[in-house]
Amino acid sequence: MNELVASLQDGFLAVQAAVFEAVAPGLFALGLGNFLEDGYAATGWLLLGLLQVAVLLLVIGPLERLRPVEPVTDRQAVRVNVAYAWILRLGLFRLGLFFLLEPVFNSALGSLRAAGWPTWHLDQFWPGVSDQPLVSFLLYLLAFDFIAYWVHRGQHGIHAWWQLHALHHSQRQMTMWSDNRNHFLDDIVVDVVLVLAAQLIGVAPQQFMLLIVLAQLSESFQHANLRLGFGRWGERLWVSPRFHRSHHSVVDGHHNFGVLLPWWDMLFSTARFEGGFGPTGLPDQVAGQRDYGRGLWAQQWLGLKRLMGKG
Ligand SMILES: [Zn+2]
Ligand SMILES: [Zn+2]
Repeated sequence: MNELVASLQDGFLAVQAAVFEAVAPGLFALGLGNFLEDGYAATGWLLLGLLQVAVLLLVIGPLERLRPVEPVTDRQAVRVNVAYAWILRLGLFRLGLFFLLEPVFNSALGSLRAAGWPTWHLDQFWPGVSDQPLVSFLLYLLAFDFIAYWVHRGQHGIHAWWQLHALHHSQRQMTMWSDNRNHFLDDIVVDVVLVLAAQLIGVAPQQFMLLIVLAQLSESFQHANLRLGFGRWGERLWVSPRFHRSHHSVVDGHHNFGVLLPWWDMLFSTARFEGGFGPTGLPDQVAGQRDYGRGLWAQQWLGLKRLMGKG
């Protein structure tokens, strides 16, 4: 298993290096020569994004056509979600975020370190065992998933945060693209929390990228228009499309906050394993009392208005 991971990683790094070689002269030409290192990382994110879209189109899409929950009647909603996906996965969003936040992050972390903040690594507590590549990866997965569970609890429990997260829940047509529909401000907050957590628990950059990609693929799969549960034991092992659709239920959705593992829901009594593939969306939306927007910019604008208490 470790060899497989290593050879996959080598293959990916070789492609990343090749693409970067083509990009680098462009950076110099634009006078961005001192951003070479960041350009290399951005190339990696771009390639991973393309790989993800390929998996969606080649694997999850055919599954959706094989066992759909419901017919796709709202094609426009799906198209808008595809637009979100391209903005996020092609790294456009990350690029903007980078130029905005990276300088702030670097100086904040720099002063933390200068003040004696230790450089700590979660996987170092049992040298020789916990720092084995696969064990270390699973440890970080567990840690990040725990953080992601509480982030999601915050998105539902904190009034202002819910005004943004509501956009994600205002989806009556769930497909594999639905995971991408979020308020950009919400995306930024979540990204900041995850990047800070990565720094605090000391995950290696490549492991961090692999974790993010695995999480995003699993999340796309959970939102798919796919009539699929994992059975009595499987449902308790990994979040399934059925488990997450239940979280999106228009009738009663305040349970099943887990992102990858349903364990935190089980531990904190927020898990619901019964329930099937009912309709999704928000009660005030379905009742026609509140508009969450059809197009991408309308959705973003209405989210800001809700946040300011005017929507
Ligand atoms: Zn939610
Ligand atoms: Zn969701």
